Amino acid sequence: VGSAAVPIDATGLTILPGVIDTQVHFREPGLEHKEDLESGSRAAVLGGVTALFEMPNTNPLTDTVEALDDKLARARGRMWCDHAFYAGATAANADTCAELEALPGCSGINVFMGASTGNLLVPDDETLARVLASGRRRVAIHAEDEPRMQDRHGFRVPGDPSSHPVWRDDESAILATREVTPQHLTLAGEDAYPRLGTFAQMNPPIRSAAHRDGIWYWLGQGVPDVVGSDHASHTLEEKARPYPDSPFGMPGVQTLLPLLLHHMAEKRLTLARLVDLTSAGAQRLFNLAGKGRIAAGYDADLSIADLKGQFTIMKDWLASRCGWSPFEGMTLKGRKVVWESELPGVPIGAPIRFQDVMRERP
Ligand SMILES: [Zn+2]
Repeated sequence: VGSAAVPIDATGLTILPGVIDTQVHFREPGLEHKEDLESGSRAAVLGGVTALFEMPNTNPLTDTVEALDDKLARARGRMWCDHAFYAGATAANADTCAELEALPGCSGINVFMGASTGNLLVPDDETLARVLASGRRRVAIHAEDEPRMQDRHGFRVPGDPSSHPVWRDDESAILATREVTPQHLTLAGEDAYPRLGTFAQMNPPIRSAAHRDGIWYWLGQGVPDVVGSDHASHTLEEKARPYPDSPFGMPGVQTLLPLLLHHMAEKRLTLARLVDLTSAGAQRLFNLAGKGRIAAGYDADLSIADLKGQFTIMKDWLASRCGWSPFEGMTLKGRKVVWESELPGVPIGAPIRFQDVMRERP
């Protein structure tokens, strides 16, 4: 350990490798009334997240070299944490994914197999095969089966968001994902739909307590490698529309670590498993350079937690532009620490480096 510019007294606190969120939607460009790269990354850092991967369903879509370069340029000097951007696969660019995934600052190719995000869709096996044949890096897949969900549209009951997991049933979620979200570990449909209504609506859906318990079982067996918040902000007005006109998704980047610390205090996972899910797992899965552990030569990304503390999620703490959280009012054991509860300095987030794309672009 060298000498720091600003010494910090962390007596009695627990220092974790910086938390990496493998899935956020920060809405810029095109949908900045919901979120932008500055507000989203501010929420991330206030929640203890030091690096994240941002998703391609913006407007325009992040499906070309130009669109990816544009996001990197927008991030410079405005994002508070390190970042990488997914390139989205479509039928139009399926054969050029190798070029896109090689760009610096690209976290890989993202595939939506079930429509969740408008135009960004790889609906059939033939197009999926072209995408997978094109590149060699990690491909992140939103795995819901589009033809099955088309067949099941009639299962949606207008005004009743609890029919959302009936429409997008568990058979539609055909592939076991290796990413879990804090909300699927925390919420259960029996309570969430009566209490939160459309504010609990997301894809894949929040399902029953039995499903939630199943996720915990497989988490204990070591199946998921990473936790991603799937932070997808929508305004209160948008979310207040009656189901199914209400949009999918909920914010979560700021509550990811606090919720996991709470589950750890409730003995649902160990500190070692929490660290693996929030940093080492992402390093292993995505070949991150200089991140994923606390070690000499690595980036000094740290998340500091008070495991003995307690903390209630309040609206005025939330930094996301949407201004709400499904976890408002929840009192959590354990607490993520931000010095003086505000962010000092200026946004210095930089593009994440990946070991498999370390060469510079000509
Ligand atoms: Zn998502």
